[in-house]
Amino acid sequence: MWQDNRTLEDFRAEVDAFLDREWKPLVQGASGGHVGEPEKKAFRRKAIDAGYLFDFISRDYGGGGAEMPAQAAAVVRDAFAAVGAPLMPAGIAPWIVVPVLNDFGTEAQKRKYLPATIEGDMIWSQGFSEPGAGSDLVSLRTGAEFRDGKWIVNGQKVWSTFAHLAHRMILLARTDPQAKAHAGLSFFLIDLHQPGVTVRPLTQMNGRQEFCEVFFENAVVEADDLLGKPGQGWEIAGATLGYERRFIANPMRTSMMFGRVLDIVRESSIDGQPAIKDPRIRDRLAQVKGKVEAITRSALREAEFSAAGKDAGTFVHMRKLLQTTVEQEMTLIVRDVLGNRLLTMPPGDEDDTRWTNEECWNNFFMRSLAIAIAGGTSNIQRNIIANRGYGLPR
Ligand SMILES: Cc1cc2nc3c(=O)[nH]c(=O)nc-3n(C[C@H](O)[C@H](O)[C@H](O)COP(=O)(O)OP(=O)(O)OC[C@H]3O[C@@H](n4cnc5c(N)ncnc54)[C@H](O)[C@@H]3O)c2cc1C
Repeated sequence: MWQDNRTLEDFRAEVDAFLDREWKPLVQGASGGHVGEPEKKAFRRKAIDAGYLFDFISRDYGGGGAEMPAQAAAVVRDAFAAVGAPLMPAGIAPWIVVPVLNDFGTEAQKRKYLPATIEGDMIWSQGFSEPGAGSDLVSLRTGAEFRDGKWIVNGQKVWSTFAHLAHRMILLARTDPQAKAHAGLSFFLIDLHQPGVTVRPLTQMNGRQEFCEVFFENAVVEADDLLGKPGQGWEIAGATLGYERRFIANPMRTSMMFGRVLDIVRESSIDGQPAIKDPRIRDRLAQVKGKVEAITRSALREAEFSAAGKDAGTFVHMRKLLQTTVEQEMTLIVRDVLGNRLLTMPPGDEDDTRWTNEECWNNFFMRSLAIAIAGGTSNIQRNIIANRGYGLPR
């Protein structure tokens, strides 16, 4: 656990020793080095108890119990990335739902939802976008009406990632049609397993099903599953999208991916020559490396701002824009290096977050386009940077 009187070097040695003791034997004992989910879960619990993960969440709710400074959190991120140790359970919930519940939840809501979500036992989906409301989210029409002590929801969401696997959804709905657009929205924690909810997965071009349409027909939300107050939905959605941008623009993911790109280039050849000696590839790698460093340092600077109670302004928007661009550039380098080998490969297992299987890279390329849309498109990030960052007119 981080203590203020320690140096970062001592802390790194402590984290490395923890990983040597708790993670490396799991990798050595696993077939093909792929550690199973139950083992990962048990490892994560030890990492939380040691104060390395979910440090910002109280122990009362299953967290690490003492928030680390930004530099110490970066030490943990780097040390875990270096040995491929898992930080969070899969899905958006640990990155987005946990901090939002922590910020806006009542004591009862935190006790009810945080421990299971942190353990990865409760899966959440995000219900913001609708067929007529994406970038222009405030025009959403799904409504919730308070009747006989419960909220009754009617409407439709779309692009809800993994809603078909989720237990609950964070739902943005209109509760006051008379109020000005932003003021009439509220934020709910809705149970997806109920008769009024229909979830229809959408099949993507790679044959996978990740997104869903979700239909609400007199679906019920209990009164104590309203997050915040009626009319506070826009504020909470803004905080959620902030966490989502940080999740997408994850510097650890970018650095790990770059490491794997380098491996592939080193192992491959172009026209019979080692790909790593190709000046065009080297030039692209050098440019990408510069951007990867910029993302890492920008994340650190943002965290320092936030620890000092200062507004990091549009840094996170710039980081999301840069990160999604650089991920596209990395996947394009791999595609160019693997060439026809990639064309004949099956889509592969996209869940391989260590990017070890070459056949995954077709999916990574497609995903790199998708993440430039998720959490606010690149154009929307540019608009925000221009308006809020540079004060340019709308
Ligand atoms: C991988 C992925 C996961 C997602 N997961 C979820 C989820 O779990 N839950 C959820 O609610 N939603 C989710 N979404 C939906 C996502 O939030 C929307 O796709 C996104 O906000 C864009 O909305 P849209 O698709 O309606 O496009 P539109 O808003 O219609 O945009 C179309 C094009 O017009 C441009 N554009 C729009 N307005 C402007 C403007 N003012 N200025 C300049 N250009 C503009 C956009 O940049 C884009 O190029 C996900 C999307 C993706 C790709």
